[in-house]
Amino acid sequence: MAIATTNPATGETVREFDSLTQQELEDRIQRSWDAFQGYRDTTVEQRAGWMRAAADILDAETDRLAGLATLEMGKTFVAAKAEVGKCALGCRWYADHSAEHLADHPWEPADAPSNARVFTRYQPLGPVLAIMPWNFPYWQVFRFLCPALMAGNVGLLKHASNVPQVALAISDVLVRAGFPRDVFQTLLIGSEMIEAVVDDDRVRAVTLTGSEPAGRAVGARAGRNVKTSVLELGGSDAFVVMPSADLDATADAAVASRTLNNGQSCINAKRIIVHEQVADEFQRLLVEKMEALTVGDPMDEDTDLGPLSGPQGLEELDRQVRDSVAAGASLLTGGTPLGGKGNFYPASVLADIPKDAPAYYEELFGPVALLFRATDLDEAIAIANDSSFGLGGSAWTQDAGEAERLVDEIETGMMNINKITASTPEVPFGGAKNSGYGRELASFGTLSFVNAKTVWIQ
Ligand code: NDP
Repeated sequence: MAIATTNPATGETVREFDSLTQQELEDRIQRSWDAFQGYRDTTVEQRAGWMRAAADILDAETDRLAGLATLEMGKTFVAAKAEVGKCALGCRWYADHSAEHLADHPWEPADAPSNARVFTRYQPLGPVLAIMPWNFPYWQVFRFLCPALMAGNVGLLKHASNVPQVALAISDVLVRAGFPRDVFQTLLIGSEMIEAVVDDDRVRAVTLTGSEPAGRAVGARAGRNVKTSVLELGGSDAFVVMPSADLDATADAAVASRTLNNGQSCINAKRIIVHEQVADEFQRLLVEKMEALTVGDPMDEDTDLGPLSGPQGLEELDRQVRDSVAAGASLLTGGTPLGGKGNFYPASVLADIPKDAPAYYEELFGPVALLFRATDLDEAIAIANDSSFGLGGSAWTQDAGEAERLVDEIETGMMNINKITASTPEVPFGGAKNSGYGRELASFGTLSFVNAKTVWIQ
C-alpha cells in the first residue's frame, strides 16, 4: 500500500511519501537504541513534564491536528477535535499517575527474615515497536505512547500507510514538547518491512492495533523472537437490550455506538440483540434513528456520518452486506454505497441474519447495524458469545440479577451495563478470544512494557 494522503471524501491523493530505505531504517533503529541509553535514566518527574508540555501543544493546535485526521481518514472534524482533546487528557493523566504505577511493589514472604526487603521493581524494556491503525489515528498512538514513555521505554511508530501526516505530526509534537531526540520516532515504512524490525535484537517489544490477520502475523513473529507483544484486534461487540431498558434512550445509544467514527471502531456496537418482548418497537426506533443521520462532508458540523477511510473498506463492506442478503438476511434500510466521489455508505440495518452469512461471523467495519432477536436472557447471552471475537460489549437492563449474569457470562475483555463501550485513560482496555491479548491503559498499560524485576535483599 502506497504511503500517501488520499482524501476519503473526494478520492483525491493530495500527497505521497517515500518509504524509508533499509539503510535509513537501520539508522533509525540504532538511534532509538542510543536514545534509550540516556532516556532510561531520566526521572518520572522529567518525563511527566514533557508529557504535560505535549498536552499543551495538543490543546493549542487542536484544529490543525484534527484537520489532518479528517483529511486523511474521513472522520468528522467534530470527532477529530474530540480525539485530539482526549490525547491531551491521556498525557496529563499519565503525567499525574505513572509514579504511583511504577513504584516498587512490596511482598511479604513467610520465610523472609525480619531485615529482608522483598519487592518488584519495574524497569523499562527499551525500544517498543507500535504498529497502529488509521481509525483513531491520534488516540491509538497516544494510548500506547503515554504509558510506555512514562515507564522509560522509547517508541518506534509504524502507522497505517494512509495517515502519514498524522504520524509525522505526532512525533513533531513530542519533539517540540521537549522529549529527548529520538525517544519517539515515526517510521514511514510499509508493512512488508515490519518482520525485520520485529526480528531486530534492539527492538524489545511490539504492540499492534488492527485486523486479526495483521495481529496473527505480528504476534507469531514476536513469539518466535521471544518478545513481549500486546494485540488489540477487531471486534463484533454485542449490545443486548432487555425489556426493562428505556427503549428510546437505548436506541439512541445503539445508533451512537454503531456509527461512532463513521462505523469504523473496534468497539462499535455491531450486533444488537433484543429481547423479543420489545423487539418490534426497538427495531422501529433503530431504523428511524439510523435513517435520521446526515451523511456528508466530514468538515461540516452538521454531518453525522463521513466517508469510510478507503475504497477497499467500502468494497469490503458492500460485499459483506450483499453476500449476507444473498444468504437470506433482510435489509431494513440502507445497504448500497452512495456512489459519486468519496467512500460514502449510508447508515444501514440488517436483520434475520443466518449463521452462514458474513454479517453473522465477520467484523463489519462501517455503519451497518446487525439486529438479532432473543427469546430470553439465555439466548441473548448465547448469541453474544457465538462469535470468534471478544472485545467489548454492553447490555441495557434495570434488573440487577440480569446485569450480574451478563457481566459474568459474556466472553469479552470489557462489559458495560447501561453504557456504551469507550476507551478512557483511567480504565484498562483490551479483548478476549480473537480480539487479542494484553491490556492497554490505566496501570495495566504502564505495566505492559516493563521488566517486573523481583528483588530480595537481606
Ligand atoms: P490492518 O490490520 O491491515 O492495518 C493496521 C496496521 O497494521 C497498519 O499499520 C498496517 O500497515 C499494519 N499491517 C497490516 N498487515 C500487516 C502485517 N502483515 N504485518 C505487520 N503490519 C501489518 O487494518 P486495515 O486498515 O487494512 O483494516 C482492515 C480491517 O482491520 C478492518 O476492516 C477492520 O476489520 C480491522 N481493523 C480493526 C481495527 C481496530 O481498531 N481493532 C483498526 C483498523 C482495522 P499498512 O497500513 O501499511 O498496511
